[in-house]
Amino acid sequence: MNIEKLFEQNKIWAEQIEHEHPGFFEELSKQQNPKFLWIGCSDSRVPANQIVNLKPGEVFVHRNIANQVLSNDFNCMSVVQFAIEVLEVEDIIVCGHYGCGGVNAALTRNAHGLVDYWIWNIRNIKNKYSDFFNSLNKSETADKLCELNVIEQVHNLANTKPLKEAWNNKKNINIHGFIYGLNNGLLKNLNTTVSSEKDTEKIYQESLGKLI
Ligand SMILES: [Zn+2]
Repeated sequence: MNIEKLFEQNKIWAEQIEHEHPGFFEELSKQQNPKFLWIGCSDSRVPANQIVNLKPGEVFVHRNIANQVLSNDFNCMSVVQFAIEVLEVEDIIVCGHYGCGGVNAALTRNAHGLVDYWIWNIRNIKNKYSDFFNSLNKSETADKLCELNVIEQVHNLANTKPLKEAWNNKKNINIHGFIYGLNNGLLKNLNTTVSSEKDTEKIYQESLGKLI
């Protein structure tokens, strides 16, 4: 596979889509009207719209290593604000996945260079619940940290300015936490959906209680 091949494949793909759905690109170019904002991992095996069988244009996407939601990340915060204020998305999905390389890197003491700054937050999650993790074996630890990471990011998101403002302005916005299995292609709902500022802490504590 090389770069030239990508252009060939792009042409084939565009022709195929146009053949199957005449007018597809013309229609898509006129408006972007996604119902969902997806915050997921950059991992190439977790393509957002594909795994929920949605067309391009139906899901607004932000991805980074280990699906982090950090209030000092202007990239993520701008995406969230745009999705809420301009696209008027009502459902935000934070989706993690088992076997996440970012989460696994946080579980080792090895130095990874710059990425260590990024996964610092995941190491903190592990340290925060160290008693719980001490009772687990290596593979259970990795899986539970992937799940816990999603719950923590949903909680982080619920506490950001764009969400607080939106809820204050009576906007209907739900933040969901999902996790995806690389080995079976299936999504699992972690049932940590937050729909208001006042329920944020209650739902966070309940979700933690179910997990640890
Ligand atoms: Zn990942």
